Amino acid sequence: MRGTRVLVLNSGSSSVKYQLVDMADGSRLASGIVERIGEGPVADHSAALKQVADELSSQGLGLDSPELAAVGHRVVHGGTRFTEPTLITDEVVEEIEKLIPLAPLHNPANVTGIKVARELRPDLPQVAIFDTAFHSTIPERAARYAIDTATADAYGIRRYGFHGTSHAYVSRAAAKLLGKDPSEVNTIVLHLGNGASASAVEGGVCVDTSMGLTPLEGLVMGTRSGDLDPAVIFHLARVGGMSPDDIDTLLNKRSGLLGLCGDNDMREIGRRMGEGDRAARLAFDIYIHRLRKYVGAYTAVLGRVDAIVFTAGVGENSAAVREAAMQRLDALGIEVDAALNAVRGSSARLISAEGSRVAVAVVPTDEELEIATQAYALVSD
Ligand code: ADP
Repeated sequence: MRGTRVLVLNSGSSSVKYQLVDMADGSRLASGIVERIGEGPVADHSAALKQVADELSSQGLGLDSPELAAVGHRVVHGGTRFTEPTLITDEVVEEIEKLIPLAPLHNPANVTGIKVARELRPDLPQVAIFDTAFHSTIPERAARYAIDTATADAYGIRRYGFHGTSHAYVSRAAAKLLGKDPSEVNTIVLHLGNGASASAVEGGVCVDTSMGLTPLEGLVMGTRSGDLDPAVIFHLARVGGMSPDDIDTLLNKRSGLLGLCGDNDMREIGRRMGEGDRAARLAFDIYIHRLRKYVGAYTAVLGRVDAIVFTAGVGENSAAVREAAMQRLDALGIEVDAALNAVRGSSARLISAEGSRVAVAVVPTDEELEIATQAYALVSD
């Protein structure tokens, strides 16, 4: 008799987050984060994972427990090679390493996490869950950029999309909230965290998403610019004398809300707007304008929209963002109930007005539960 627990590991460049989930009832038995890897006592990922193992052991939930059925690893980039939850073998590790040029900031840490976890429990099934996988169904017309095909193919340039685990979980949960099967509903998912992305999901299948080759494209984010004219980059190089790395840092780390007003936290921006701060107001307006453009675009892509779903830190918590993003969209059949929108809560809920043709919902995302669910489904087949 195999166990029902799954350890979910999210190995980032300087931290490892973990959750131990019991798939018998979806409950969390343990969770935590080991931070500042490379500084001070936690020398490297190996030390970090050993600390995770020790923390679990001290709660009687050690990695040696027979209750543990699998480890589920979040992997950011699966390229076109990985479109499903994948049982990790030596060959799979090599393939994920080959994708490092597409995700130089993320995949190396993911690979290290996998290697160390396999050393700690070589006999245990370990499963890779890719952030890109849910978007692998996007049709070529939406996935390809309009550039020379041979060049694009030589360098793997296409829309991959990210936050897929969240978009998958949230679109399914929204269907459930409506009492329908995912195959029956068309959904626009707005994942608004520090990173932010939108997706168009038709009958449970993703058909477009706002992030592209990397997580830089699309919505205005905490520190990323999202969409911009690609010629801005040549201009900054030729006229501004900036290097590719300088521009990379500018667009990924010093742009978005932070670049516009000096703050990337929506709570702080809301507070400043309340004091009449004009830079914060403009940053908010630019953020909302971009969001509305994607809602309009994905409405056209889907043809019929049944639900718009807000999730992640901003989407779940900021009534002001939801209100501004959805106002004056009655021509699209979208009407929010101001009182419902203002209610704070931690469970999935509708915020649309009685007569709204499109349901508007807030659905807390749960990427760890989704990773555990997918990993468990694979090993218990
Ligand atoms: P990450 O992309 O790091 O996973 P989260 O989904 O946790 O991010 O979202 C983090 C962001 O959520 C914060 O930067 C902040 O802007 C926003 N946020 C969190 N709580 C609130 C709140 N109560 N009101 C408005 N925004 C919030």
